[in-house]
Amino acid sequence: MAGPGLLLAARCSALVPSASLSRASLSPLCLAPLSSTLTTRTMRAVHVHCVRARQHHQHRSASSSTAQQPPSASRQLPHVVVLGTGWASHRFVRDIDHNKYHVTVVSPRDHMLFTPLLTSTAVGTLEHRSIIESIRATASERHFDFQQAQVTDIDFDNNKVMCQSAVYSNDEEPERFPIPYDFLVVGIGAVPNTFGVPGVKEHAFFLKEASDARDVRRRIHDCFEAASFPMKTAQEIEDLLTFVVVGGGPTGVEFAAELTDFLREDCTRLYPHIQHRPRVILLEASGAVLSAFDSSLRQYALRRLERQDCHVRLGRSVKEVKRHEVVLDNGEVINTHCIVWSTGVGPRALVKSLDERYLTENKQHIRVDRGLKIANTQNAFAYGDCARIDGYILPAVAQVAEQQGKFLADEFNRATPQREVGCDTFKFASSGMLAYLGHYGGVAKIAVPTPDDVTNVKLSGLTAWLVWRMGYLTKLGRWRNRLQVPFDWLKTMIFGRDPTKF
Ligand SMILES: Cc1cc2nc3c(=O)[nH]c(=O)nc-3n(C[C@H](O)[C@H](O)[C@H](O)COP(=O)(O)OP(=O)(O)OC[C@H]3O[C@@H](n4cnc5c(N)ncnc54)[C@H](O)[C@@H]3O)c2cc1C
Repeated sequence: MAGPGLLLAARCSALVPSASLSRASLSPLCLAPLSSTLTTRTMRAVHVHCVRARQHHQHRSASSSTAQQPPSASRQLPHVVVLGTGWASHRFVRDIDHNKYHVTVVSPRDHMLFTPLLTSTAVGTLEHRSIIESIRATASERHFDFQQAQVTDIDFDNNKVMCQSAVYSNDEEPERFPIPYDFLVVGIGAVPNTFGVPGVKEHAFFLKEASDARDVRRRIHDCFEAASFPMKTAQEIEDLLTFVVVGGGPTGVEFAAELTDFLREDCTRLYPHIQHRPRVILLEASGAVLSAFDSSLRQYALRRLERQDCHVRLGRSVKEVKRHEVVLDNGEVINTHCIVWSTGVGPRALVKSLDERYLTENKQHIRVDRGLKIANTQNAFAYGDCARIDGYILPAVAQVAEQQGKFLADEFNRATPQREVGCDTFKFASSGMLAYLGHYGGVAKIAVPTPDDVTNVKLSGLTAWLVWRMGYLTKLGRWRNRLQVPFDWLKTMIFGRDPTKF
């Protein structure tokens, strides 16, 4: 594999074809977006950077004539660096015209994760690999470059990002390297919000990444196996089989529902010797679960969860999490060995590290205009959970992120010397909301377009569950996933969930 220095140099020699950067030496395609967005100062900075990188490349080439080059590096196209492989960036790199731009994706995660089905993988209804899409596979099909690294710093003035390897390195320190860009697109998402509650980071599980779901699944397994040991007291077994979910939003509710399915459908079969009945406790600080839904659907969801043997505790917030305890605001202590925390999202370290010129007033998001351009920049854009549009607040959901990815890719594709990227305005069109409630039931609010407007149709029970399953099935990007997911559902229905741990 080519080292980062070589990759960078190869890209720069594509971007700067001669030793002295002259506009006439660039291809018309390259010149158009550059001339419309880059100032003379930033062009000079890119030039100096690229000349140095090319010298480094020549040095490396001399010592290693067999080194490989990335496929698109030789093309003289504007370089778009895309951060993240989530909903927004995945849609962006699928839709942008790769004949018009040389795209490099940088992300510590080498896959796109279909988050709406993550809770199903946490109990084994679905397998982890069924809901992820390889970015390498997409990169080879669409012809873009991918670097598995995280960006630790963005230098908006000099048009470059600083990266740190997210893969194995034989050095003690992870490899670090810069990547210059003509355009930057930031889609780094967000992190779980702990609201500063002590002990959450140390003792609770989150449900954000595929690895989180795997950890939760392993812990559930461990709790049941530990509860099977011969010398366990009744109290120890009760503690091991008490599962606490914090947060009554869609993720918390869906995980609690999946867990009750697993306990009802599989645990009696797998652990017939355990007499104690497992408990699922769902804690929600406000007065309702699924607060984004209408009151009638919220009430339905509450009744349904209770019927599923999920103990919903409304108006109860968590004061502290200890190794095997959850301490509530009223002083009550719940003994447990499995706490899943799902109370919304907050900014990533990279967002917090940016200068306040680029951030919203509360410093929680990157500030963008309606064309998704980052405040006080000319050639940098942001979308998805990490961004907030001035005066147009949208929920942090996949629908918004994906539509923004599509919008921005269209903007890049339509750009000409006369038309800058981001001069159109983004408008969100909600297609509704769905939540799974367990045992073939759910709630849904579906937006149905009418000749004049949009009408919301409310569904509950089996119909909502069917819509939930069909809706997500059609949303899965690759045929591989569209086959794997129903296959997993069928397998679970016939044979039950696979309880093994490895
Ligand atoms: C369990 C769960 C269920 C959900 N269910 C739904 C649902 O049913 N419907 C819905 O609409 N929404 C749902 N959401 C919300 C939805 O997943 C998010 O809104 C969406 O993922 C946001 O997309 P994004 O592209 O902004 O960020 P993400 O999808 O979070 O992607 C961020 C990407 O940036 C990368 N990254 C992070 N840091 C760096 C860095 N420093 N440098 C480079 N790359 C970086 C990450 O590795 C990742 O690839 C759910 C979320 C979760 C966790």
